[in-house]
Amino acid sequence: MTKVEQTRARIAKYSKTQEFIDTVKAVAKNPKLIDPSQRLEICKKCKPHYSNGVCKLCGCFMHIKARLAASKCRLNKWTSVG
Ligand code: SF4
Repeated sequence: MTKVEQTRARIAKYSKTQEFIDTVKAVAKNPKLIDPSQRLEICKKCKPHYSNGVCKLCGCFMHIKARLAASKCRLNKWTSVG
């Protein structure tokens, strides 16, 4: 792996970690759960980012993340509610 590829991998890892922290903070403020079906329908059509229940951009298991009212899609395909 070249240095550029290593740097890109580190940035991607940090970005996912920061997104996870931001999601935890948002859920701590708004722990409400919602019906995830509409969000999951959007994710299932999201190519190439959605695969086997996981969003490759944020690394989240969507059947969990989509239930959290405070969570949001990194690409703004769906947003937080409440
Ligand atoms: S969270 Fe957003 S980017 Fe990720 S799979 Fe769902 S719609 Fe796609």
